[in-house]
Amino acid sequence: MERFELNDTDKSLIEAALAVLKENFDDGIYTHTVGAAVLCGGGKIYRGVNCDGIHGSCAEYITMGIAISAGERDFKTIVAVHEKAPNGVIPPCGNCRQMLYEYCPEIKVIVNDENGKPIKVKAKDLLPFAREPIVC
Ligand SMILES: [Zn+2]
Repeated sequence: MERFELNDTDKSLIEAALAVLKENFDDGIYTHTVGAAVLCGGGKIYRGVNCDGIHGSCAEYITMGIAISAGERDFKTIVAVHEKAPNGVIPPCGNCRQMLYEYCPEIKVIVNDENGKPIKVKAKDLLPFAREPIVC
């Protein structure tokens, strides 16, 4: 698996995700406990928090939806954060890995490596043997 070092932009992306979480944190009825931020090709950063419910939506889903709704189609880097996670960074769940694989397999995802150091890996490397999108 190819690994990439974080740069200053990546650190800003983590800060953006932590900021949107701080602005909207709620561990009560709405349980907004995860933030995310995605860097797009033109340099814009979009942020979002998770939404709870019977099925709920992860912060990555919400954030990608916000970026797509703004017309973005080129996604460079994404990160999800939780205030108590090491470095603030949490890895995407399996469902989000599949979504990222389908939308942008080359997007870099910030995760903590085996030693707890934040790095970037490609979404396609986070989901071996992923289900390919079915085109009818
Ligand atoms: Zn998820």
